[in-house]
Amino acid sequence: LSLVYQPLVDIKLNKITGAEALIRWNHPELGIISPLEFIPIAEETGMINPIGQWILHTAIGQCKQWVDAGHTDLLIAINLSAVQFNNPLLVTMINTILHEHQLPADNLELEITESVAMINIDLTIKQLKSLADAGIRLSLDDFGTGYSSLSYLKRFPVDILKIDRSFVKDIPADSNDMEITAAIIAMAQKLKLDVVAEGVETIEQVEFLQNNNCYIVQGFYYSKPIAESELPKLYKKLNDAPNIASSK
Ligand code: C2E
Ligand code: MG
Ligand code: MG
Repeated sequence: LSLVYQPLVDIKLNKITGAEALIRWNHPELGIISPLEFIPIAEETGMINPIGQWILHTAIGQCKQWVDAGHTDLLIAINLSAVQFNNPLLVTMINTILHEHQLPADNLELEITESVAMINIDLTIKQLKSLADAGIRLSLDDFGTGYSSLSYLKRFPVDILKIDRSFVKDIPADSNDMEITAAIIAMAQKLKLDVVAEGVETIEQVEFLQNNNCYIVQGFYYSKPIAESELPKLYKKLNDAPNIASSK
């Protein structure tokens, strides 16, 4: 198992603000296996517990190295599976790992999908509240694809909505997707939530998002998920070449 990191880019400042840790399984015979395939199996078998702990340790330790190298406000975003999120010991475990690596809680962002959030609403609210009280930022991943009721947005103490790639990928060809994306951004702003667009692959999409006031993007246009050593290089490249968005 290994982790790769996909930058989150502030298109207004032309700056990497964070990175999402994404797991990879390089199987000796089968090659690279997608997390979409093996995370559900790891959940069923219980393997997700040791794997999830390893992910948290590795990604938090990596972020601490970037912080120590001078990227003090870089966020590390880590995905939590259903079993991990519903573990009553989650908050204690995360606090212990943060403490072990001496990473401030405000450098950490945890992502749960809408469908994970909806499994047990009361537990979700309790867990999110404890994590938020610990100073950790929380995001709702794949927003718009699950079956969460909008009324829960008021009750879940989340900071960020991540617009799912399925809405972004056909911009500008699909006018419905443009309307939906613009509406999610507007709603997030009204609710005072940050909004991140996933799966941004083209300059047209960057421009559309910018025009609709979504300034944090993640996607192949800026970078595929990369090895940890590549992130500081890309950080510098973006910093040194302002307006990469319009220069490509
Ligand atoms: P996610 O959390 O929504 O992660 C975003 C996925 O979109 C990643 O796929 C990423 O490589 C892909 N992506 C990002 N930008 C683009 C783009 O511009 N174009 C295209 N075509 N794809 C893009 P990946 O790494 O295969 O992960 C898939 C899903 O597996 C993740 O979706 C997440 O739900 C889960 N996952 C990945 N790593 C972990 C992990 O460490 N723990 C847990 N629990 N789940 C993970
Ligand atoms: Mg995610
Ligand atoms: Mg997503």
